[in-house]
Parts: sequence; C-alpha cells; structure tokens
Amino acid sequence: MASEKLVLNFPRGIVREPVVYRLVKDYDLRVNIMRASISPDEAGHMVVEISGDKRKLEAGRKYIESVGVTWQPLSKDVHWRQDRCVHCTACVSVCPTSALSVKRPEMVVQFDEDKCIGCELCIPVCGYAAVEIQF
Ligand code: SF4
Ligand code: SF4
Repeated sequence: MASEKLVLNFPRGIVREPVVYRLVKDYDLRVNIMRASISPDEAGHMVVEISGDKRKLEAGRKYIESVGVTWQPLSKDVHWRQDRCVHCTACVSVCPTSALSVKRPEMVVQFDEDKCIGCELCIPVCGYAAVEIQF
C-alpha cells in the first residue's frame, strides 16, 4: 500500500471530468479530498491524498495527465508572515483560491490557511519574503 498527497490543477473546461470517481472505480484507489476550489467553467484546484497499490497509483497519475489535469506533489506547508507583509497585494492576483485576499475597507491582505492548496504561486511574487515554505 502506497500513499501520496497531490495538488491537482484542472484547466478551464475540464473541471467536470469525474477524476475522483474514475480513480476510485477504475483504478481501485482511495481518494481523500483535503481541499478543493472548483467552479464550473473556471480553472480549479484540488488537494488529495491518494492511496492504494503502487502500480495502480502510477496508472492513476497517468490517467489524470491523459485528461489534461496537471499535478504536483504536496510536501510542504505555506506560512504567511504577517509581520513581514507590507500589504502590497502583489500575491493576491496570483493566488488561485483566494487564500490570500484583500480585506475591505481596511485594504489589508489576509491569509486563509484552509483555502491554501500549496501551489507556491505566491512565493516568487512576494518581494518581502512574507510567504514561506515550511518543511
Ligand atoms: S506580496 Fe508579500 S508583502 Fe505583498 S501583500 Fe503579498 S505577502 Fe504581503
Ligand atoms: S500557495 Fe500561495 S498562491 Fe497558492 S493557494 Fe496558497 S496562498 Fe494561494
């Protein structure tokens, strides 16, 4: 039995693909959805823990890729350093799940850990090292 945590990135137009159902039914895998941000007709993201036979896990990943869903391993946690943040909002526009957002009317940036999928898109745009990866 093997297990891995993956971030699945659904491009716009294929969020309706029943990926989780197929992984369970066709590949005999267990899928635990840890976080998801999926909307019809928009790109979506899902963090899943998949477990099962190692060869079936590999076959499942190939199936995911075959339908156009990209994936990356989730091995790190993202930590927002409020003490370093200058609220420039540069990260907000790249965050796909609104884990980083602007609180109005105060116009301050806030971080919702529960919405973060660990995609790391915010890391390179922050010039103040206010978003960190924790190993
Ligand atoms: S880019 Fe960095 S400094 Fe700017 S709002 Fe985001 S976390 Fe704060
Ligand atoms: S890693 Fe950064 S950009 Fe990605 S979801 Fe988390 S806060 Fe948003």
